Amino acid sequence: MNIPRTSFPRIVIIGGGFAGVSLAKELSKQEVQVVLLDKNNYHTFQPLLYQVSTGGLEPDSIAYPIRKILKDFPNFHFRLANVEEINTLENKVLTDIGVLKFDYLVVASGAETNYFGNAEVKKNSMAMKTIPESLNLRSLILENFEEALLTSDLNERNALMNFVIVGGGPTGVELAGALAEIKKGILPKDYPDLDTRLAQIHIVQSSDCILKGMSDKASQKAEDFLEKLGVNIWKNVRVTNYDGKTVTTNTDLTFETATLVWAAGVKGATIKGLDAGGFVTNGQRLLVNEFNQVKGFDTIFAVGDIACMVTNECPNGLPMMAQPAIQQGKQLGENMVRLIEKKPMIPFVYKDKGVMATIGRNKAVVDLPKFKFQGVFAWYVWMFVHLFFLIGFRNRMVVFINWVYNYIRFDREARLIIRPYKRHLKK
Ligand SMILES: Cc1cc2nc3c(=O)[nH]c(=O)nc-3n(C[C@H](O)[C@H](O)[C@H](O)COP(=O)(O)OP(=O)(O)OC[C@H]3O[C@@H](n4cnc5c(N)ncnc54)[C@H](O)[C@@H]3O)c2cc1C
Repeated sequence: MNIPRTSFPRIVIIGGGFAGVSLAKELSKQEVQVVLLDKNNYHTFQPLLYQVSTGGLEPDSIAYPIRKILKDFPNFHFRLANVEEINTLENKVLTDIGVLKFDYLVVASGAETNYFGNAEVKKNSMAMKTIPESLNLRSLILENFEEALLTSDLNERNALMNFVIVGGGPTGVELAGALAEIKKGILPKDYPDLDTRLAQIHIVQSSDCILKGMSDKASQKAEDFLEKLGVNIWKNVRVTNYDGKTVTTNTDLTFETATLVWAAGVKGATIKGLDAGGFVTNGQRLLVNEFNQVKGFDTIFAVGDIACMVTNECPNGLPMMAQPAIQQGKQLGENMVRLIEKKPMIPFVYKDKGVMATIGRNKAVVDLPKFKFQGVFAWYVWMFVHLFFLIGFRNRMVVFINWVYNYIRFDREARLIIRPYKRHLKK
């Protein structure tokens, strides 16, 4: 890989997500050479992916060029590269554009969808972890309605307008709320000759409540909001298979649907060479100590979703959310400088800033460490926080204008089938 060697130690970061970008920014003014590798040339603001899937926002408003984030920083190099392997013995990474030696390596590769080994569900369901996946889902939703208009077979029409979301976490809840709003506000206008009351939205949740990590009040209120929007919530039901037509569960319940969205779990996006050994947990995350060093290594670190940092409060590791990723990235930047200067590193302490989810227009639930609230005010707080953490002034402006427009007009302008999604349905 064509990167000049300097007298500064070389830190290679894999991943330009929340953790990788926060770390790179922290290191930007230090006497180190930073090489950031990502398979995309943009940073994705994942919390708003569901709005792309449902036509509320254009994809470019939640993505930001990584080169632009760090354009003014000396000693910084970005390469568009897929890291295929890590050689921990020779301190080098193997990528699709060449090999790169490192002095220090930081794995910030995030997470990927976890199908828990079910290959058929993986093949037939839709995921929503990346922008291309969200665009696929957007196309599929819209194509379903176009197809529903054409068919005279009532069962087929029902299946096309039946949406099953597996997983009642924030992603599933937010997507269900947005789909319910499309059903209410947009379908009757766009498809006047279709009986849009047939459109059904289901959430299937394996445990006895939705938004499991949040307070009981937030979970109950979110359920009330969704039920008022007409979403069906099936609790204590586990999806066992989906052949592209029928969803089966561990109960008698089945669903005929053309769209199953899998929002039921994630696992660490490990990379060959650092994907097996005592330091890899059940959720495929890399066990790290309080300095984010991967167990057994002094110069290899992991931050964000891929890192499993066990604390007294979180025995299964810190939550896979944006805040731990941002905070770890920042603190590791400081610690790496200390390490290079042979000073003692400072243990990471997670500052819990709360969790929130929106269910739709004027409806959100917010659990802050000291306050918990739901409803309209929570919705404003949700919007403010998401705008604040979006990268880029233009993106903030575009998202804000879109939201105001959508709010006033009860609309979602980006309902476009730009890149049709080809699915392999069993008819
Ligand atoms: C739909 C959705 C909604 C969410 N909503 C919320 C929310 O409301 N609040 C919240 O706090 N969190 C939310 N999260 C979780 C949050 O987005 C993650 O916790 C956060 O993105 C983790 O940051 P990260 O830097 O560890 O990983 P990521 O942000 O996932 O970044 C990983 C980066 O690594 C790159 N990469 C991976 N493998 C390789 C490789 N082999 N080679 C090169 N590059 C690679 C990827 O392209 C990516 O850019 C949501 C996640 C999703 C999917």
